Amino acid sequence: MSATTTSSLLELRQVTKQFGATTVLQPTDLQVRRGEVVCVIGPSGSGKSTLLRCVNFIAPPSTGSIVFDGAEYTPPTDHRWVPALGLPEERRLTRLRSEIGMVFQQFNVFPHLTVRENVAIGCRKTCGLGRKEAAERALAELTKVGMAEKVDAYPEQLSGGQKQRVAIARALALDPKLMLFDEATSALDPELVNGILAIMRELAEAGMTMMVVTHEMRFAMEVADRVIFMDRGCIVEEGTPEQFKDPQHERTRTFLRSIN
Ligand code: ADP
Ligand code: MG
Repeated sequence: MSATTTSSLLELRQVTKQFGATTVLQPTDLQVRRGEVVCVIGPSGSGKSTLLRCVNFIAPPSTGSIVFDGAEYTPPTDHRWVPALGLPEERRLTRLRSEIGMVFQQFNVFPHLTVRENVAIGCRKTCGLGRKEAAERALAELTKVGMAEKVDAYPEQLSGGQKQRVAIARALALDPKLMLFDEATSALDPELVNGILAIMRELAEAGMTMMVVTHEMRFAMEVADRVIFMDRGCIVEEGTPEQFKDPQHERTRTFLRSIN
């Protein structure tokens, strides 16, 4: 292993993703240090979600590998491979996924569970907590995101912003080492966006390692340690927010102009 590997929590090594004959992620190398906040920007369809989904193997990379917290993960090579429970490889991936929290644009909360149950269920299934401990952990996480008073509500009684708070609490309850946010504020009414961004900012300031796909350039410029611009399945440009004030690539300039 190279010397840089040890300081990285996450490393992508020549990761690609194909769907059929189409390559949506070109060979990609990326390292994310512990505590680093990386914001990923780029046009619709450029591969941002695919990049995040390869990191936690929701969509396994087609080729290349992921090194996370010192362990390497490679795509399944056996085409008959089925994610059957009990396979050692699948057990490793289950652990990988449990160490990486993910928050989606569309909240993904369970409609038939209360707010508290939405958070507690992961603590029981993934962390093996008992019912009471899981309920306590859930309340603690929900309190941190300002949802203590809604623990018995059902998702349909919540605003989008409140649902997203539940989704964030649910991810954090598993004590992840890395948090992935995929356009977490894109489906929210404008007046609810800042509340979610404030939670994400606090998390960043508390030292969480984060990869954040976002169109919120102000958030990216203020919170990111590093910004990545993707286009057509490639990382076209990366640098500090300061460097993104004067992008090197014409495609980056065009994109930034288009969203301002
Ligand atoms: P972004 O998040 O930047 O909008 P995505 O990663 O969602 O982009 O998509 C990148 C490209 O991959 C798009 O052209 C999209 O249509 C394609 N794609 C994404 N998921 C699938 C899939 N499951 N099957 C086929 N094509 C897909
Ligand atoms: Mg996307």
